[in-house]
Amino acid sequence: MRQTRVQEMECELPSTKWRTLWLAIVLHLLYGVQQTQCNILPVKPTHHNNTALHQVLEALAATYPNITRLYSIGKSYQGKGLWVLEITKNPGMHTPGKPEFKYVANMHGNEVVGREMLLLLADYLCSNYGRNERVTKLVDTTRIHLLPSMNPDGWESSKEGDCSSVRGRFNANGVDLNRNFPDPYDGQRNELQPETKAVMNWIHQEPFVLSANLHGGTLVVNYPFDNLPVELKRSGTRVYYSSPDDDIFVTIAKVYSLAHPTMHKGHPQCPIQRRERFPDGITNGAAWYPISGGMQDYNYYKTNCFEITLELGCCKYPPALYIMPYWYANREALIKYIELVHTTGIRGFVVDEKGRPIDGARIVIENRAKKIKTYKDGDYWRLLVPGNYTIRVAKRRYKNSKKKVTVVPDVPTVVNFTLVRRRPKNFNRRRPAAMTSNPAEAVQLEKPASNVSFHSVVTHRDKLQLAAKSPKKSASIARNPSIAASFICLVLVAVLK
Ligand SMILES: [Zn+2]
Repeated sequence: MRQTRVQEMECELPSTKWRTLWLAIVLHLLYGVQQTQCNILPVKPTHHNNTALHQVLEALAATYPNITRLYSIGKSYQGKGLWVLEITKNPGMHTPGKPEFKYVANMHGNEVVGREMLLLLADYLCSNYGRNERVTKLVDTTRIHLLPSMNPDGWESSKEGDCSSVRGRFNANGVDLNRNFPDPYDGQRNELQPETKAVMNWIHQEPFVLSANLHGGTLVVNYPFDNLPVELKRSGTRVYYSSPDDDIFVTIAKVYSLAHPTMHKGHPQCPIQRRERFPDGITNGAAWYPISGGMQDYNYYKTNCFEITLELGCCKYPPALYIMPYWYANREALIKYIELVHTTGIRGFVVDEKGRPIDGARIVIENRAKKIKTYKDGDYWRLLVPGNYTIRVAKRRYKNSKKKVTVVPDVPTVVNFTLVRRRPKNFNRRRPAAMTSNPAEAVQLEKPASNVSFHSVVTHRDKLQLAAKSPKKSASIARNPSIAASFICLVLVAVLK
């Protein structure tokens, strides 16, 4: 009996052991996942390698699914993902009237501070959503896109503590990505790289209003233009080459530098350029040193987006212990700069007489060369400094619309336009539908008017009238046999002679 009981116990033991073991494994996995998540968030002030960077973005997207979306805009030369975290209420697509903003970092692989700033910023915005009124309002009303690394390949070659070399600056194909965009003066010097193509597609796809490109190596905000015509470059002297919106760029650049505790002092005191000074902590790109194929100039020339370049500090790859001081120095400036999409200039919708959005209408400011175009929802944003402006909206086949507007500081100025279709030039000379040779046709012509635009009805009618006219000419010759007979007689007389 005893023996039997022992045998039974021996038989039971393995199954209990297995059960306990399985339970332990499940608990370990659950606890482990929780631990992993806890280890990732909140974002640590450390240098995240490419895998860790992606894990942070995934963790943020998983923890805050209602206000985030993680997506890739393409791949690097070596095939690494170029990951963007979108932060906004109801993410996933453009909402009419909600401005689009972007930050791009780590374009030069060895300039890594911006990369960590964007991870900390993403965490800050997500974790404070619903708790902090300012952050909640910003996330509710803005679609924010963060690309922490545009050059993950270059990052792999860079080294912590390397403040000034170019090791890791280029992509894996040896190209400087901030010299790789099509340039109005120098064209395309190097073949477009996959990272550049991905960003170009991205910025043409989304209607970005405002942007900044985060770099390192000194402490200053640099604004367009970065490049200038060859004849000015040859002069050998530094030339301030301003864009038509120089006043706006100076204003938004100062918003960043003044919100930074030391940048606005304009004396970075970097070991390489100890004497370098930037009044108010800002500089025109060409006046500093001209570059060809830069991203900020491309944004301005080719899209609606205004972009500046932020140099966040003297050391390109500082030791990790400096990350928190960098974050505290830049946090307010990073947030204030995003808020500019709501407080600078004018915004609104352009619609037709029936209230339908007009895509691609040109927003023209009198005496200012840069034109902005409406997005597919008819919405637009035009950054402007406070002042009085005359705004003209133009679109083919519509009459221009003009308004005088006063832009006041720190208040969103909404200006909507309704465009009226032009009457076709030869409209009055056309016969009314009832006068067509075939009355049945006239009835058919009237029918489409209920569900197609007036213009398309007229065009359709024109085609029918033209088609009706051509056979008449041949018919008129056929109906006059006397003309043909006279012609044959003349030929016969000539031959007989
Ligand atoms: Zn750089």
